[in-house]
Amino acid sequence: MTKRIFRNILLTAVLALLLTSALLVGTLYNVYEARISAELRTEAEYIVRALDMMQDDLAYFADLTPANRVTLIAPDGRVLYDSDADEARMDSHDQRPEVQSALTIGKGESTRYSDTISEVTIYYACRTAEGNVLRIASTRSSVLGMFLNVAPQIIVMLLTVAALSLLIARYSSRQIVQPINELNLDEPLENDVYDELAPLLTRMDRQHSQIRQQMHDLARAHADLNAIMANMREGLILIDKESRIISINGSAQTIFGVKGIIAPDADLLTICRDASVLEIVKAAQQGESGDAVLPRDSRTYRIFASPVLREEKVRGVVLLALDISARYAAEASRREFTANVSHELKTPLTSISGYAEIIESGIARQEDVPAFAGKIHAEAKRLVALVNDILELSRLDEKQGLGAKAPVALMPMLNALADSFQSLAQEKGVALLVEGCDATVEGYPVLLRELFHNLIDNAIKYTPAGGTVAVQVAQREGRVCCTVKDTGIGIPAEHQPHVFERFYRVDKSHSRQTGGGSPAGSTGLGLAIVKHVAEVHQAQVGLMSAPDEGTAVSITF
Ligand code: ADP
Repeated sequence: MTKRIFRNILLTAVLALLLTSALLVGTLYNVYEARISAELRTEAEYIVRALDMMQDDLAYFADLTPANRVTLIAPDGRVLYDSDADEARMDSHDQRPEVQSALTIGKGESTRYSDTISEVTIYYACRTAEGNVLRIASTRSSVLGMFLNVAPQIIVMLLTVAALSLLIARYSSRQIVQPINELNLDEPLENDVYDELAPLLTRMDRQHSQIRQQMHDLARAHADLNAIMANMREGLILIDKESRIISINGSAQTIFGVKGIIAPDADLLTICRDASVLEIVKAAQQGESGDAVLPRDSRTYRIFASPVLREEKVRGVVLLALDISARYAAEASRREFTANVSHELKTPLTSISGYAEIIESGIARQEDVPAFAGKIHAEAKRLVALVNDILELSRLDEKQGLGAKAPVALMPMLNALADSFQSLAQEKGVALLVEGCDATVEGYPVLLRELFHNLIDNAIKYTPAGGTVAVQVAQREGRVCCTVKDTGIGIPAEHQPHVFERFYRVDKSHSRQTGGGSPAGSTGLGLAIVKHVAEVHQAQVGLMSAPDEGTAVSITF
């Protein structure tokens, strides 16, 4: 800026100086020339008057000390006298314009440059009475000459002007720039500087507002995205095409067991080395979506990898991790259930078919037939019990045909159940009693009946003669607790966590022997139904058992 101001000031000053000098020199020269012409004219007229008196006698010039060069020229152009040169050597002057004019009209004037053009000679010629021409010449500096004469002074002035221009430029630029440097760019409109800056400051203010708005929008979008990502139950990871992690949400960090903060640009390998996941990531980086199952910390996740495309080029990959543990477990248990059902159905059917075949072929002795028929009958009953339990479980699974919930008075229901079991209990030599307070729960009567039926059935089934089965109803801290307690064979500790699983039996041979006669038979499904019904009623199931001491199963509503 200083340079530009300096250049402008210097240019202006130099132009002004040169123009002024030229004007001054030109004007002075004109005045000077006019004065010289007047002087020449006066001197010529004076000498002519003297020559006229002396009839052009050349002796007149002997005593003359002219201020300028004086020449007397004959009408034919011959030089008769010259104050500065030898007239004999001078050529004819008849062609000189001032001489021709003097011969014609009595006087003449002309100006001629010397060889160097820095000088100019002014001639004035007058015709004498004798017909000769007197010419006076004065050589002076030309305009250029005059200009060249003052050139050193002009140069000194130019240098002075340049130095001054530099100082002024520095000072001016500092003066101009300082307020600009002190501008408050955060609040452009609050500045009170040059009017010329007003449009710029207004535009800056408008751009500031736009930027602020855009930043605000961006921040909000970013915050929204962060909130979505942070609150997503699904894990979300964004990686670039070199597998560097760009973004990872909290759920994904939990799923992949990330502790602390992930280093910027950390590789995906630092959190996951699962081959199937790396394979779908690789495929996604080549533009193909895919998914894989990732078992991790007793849970199962399905990982989806999708390419992020921009202008038809893969820029990165999005990984979405869904917790499919429940569905996966359900599928596994369904598979296991189907396998178990097939197996459980096959066993009684095989023995039914075996006994029937023996009877049919006539191999069996007549007296053995009733025993074989009894076995067929028992296995058929077991089959019926099994099918009933399976149907019951699938009804519970599908939550079909449950009807509406209703208040269920437990005591009347349990008393009625106990009555229906009394003959079986007596048969086994087991005492069965119901005790406790009257309590009502909200639930499905049919299911609750089924639940307690199974518990009482088990208690009688696994209690040897002389034992007791007690059904107790209690109300504690606003909760209803129903316990079916027996003094039976008990369940060993290692089996206790499994007895509520489908088809789980502590001792299969033992169960089979004790089975029959009860609606649930010995299917390994009784407690699974109990657990399911309790879940439907949001009730907690408790089990306390010790081998040879007895078992207590409690349902807390
Ligand atoms: P099951 O039809 O075999 O009785 P359950 O699901 O009702 O099937 O019971 C699972 C297993 O738990 C039984 O096979 C039995 O070994 C054990 N069990 C259940 N109730 C009792 C109990 N009251 N006393 C001892 N063992 C029991």
